[in-house]
Amino acid sequence: MASSPTSPTSPSGKKLVNTKSGLRMICLIDDERSAFEIDEPKWQNDNDHHICNKCGAKFSFKTRRHHCRRCGKIYCGSCCTTKVALPRLSFVDPQRVCTDCVIQAKKEIEMFERYLPILLKGAEFDLGDSDAKRCKCKLNAKTYRDLMFTDVKDANSLPHENVCLTDITSIHCMTDPLNQSSDGKPQLVGINLDYFSDSRSKSIKLNVPNESLNRSTSVHYLRTLQKVG
Ligand SMILES: [Zn+2]
Ligand SMILES: [Zn+2]
Repeated sequence: MASSPTSPTSPSGKKLVNTKSGLRMICLIDDERSAFEIDEPKWQNDNDHHICNKCGAKFSFKTRRHHCRRCGKIYCGSCCTTKVALPRLSFVDPQRVCTDCVIQAKKEIEMFERYLPILLKGAEFDLGDSDAKRCKCKLNAKTYRDLMFTDVKDANSLPHENVCLTDITSIHCMTDPLNQSSDGKPQLVGINLDYFSDSRSKSIKLNVPNESLNRSTSVHYLRTLQKVG
């Protein structure tokens, strides 16, 4: 899509870019791109579409074509009327979307407002099997891309490499069948996270600490990671 840069690159590697839908604040460095950022959709060609994709209304001088900014399909004004924030597309302002995409956009807004702050705040875990090391796991606030692990006693010590959210291939829950949580389900004691790095499959075990003070925060963190992952 043709775009014209309108500002110099910021220190975070992001740039304000003017597209035909509006201003977007996007990262131009692939390795630092947020795991949640998606590209703008390709717009359907006006000349190929003579009726609304949703209600079938025939386009005319009175019934104009409108492109949904999230899926790129063409609709009539009634089927593409709502303007919502599209955080995954990094638009600065709310954008016009179709009725299907309104539902999807609301889920994404919820993810950004409810779930990402939890991942950014972080929680404590015991890393690995034997000789477990207590670490703090949190999402990198600059890129929204990597889970970072630091020693709780020494923030400069990194007990494990970063895990990029887009490299996660599966998340397995580990539960304790002998203990139930408040919802009656077996208590979550940790997760086994499979991911791809340096051209090979790897895994990392995040165990929920036993102390009651840290437990609920850590369980909440893992449940959120599952929702987002
Ligand atoms: Zn319509
Ligand atoms: Zn749409």
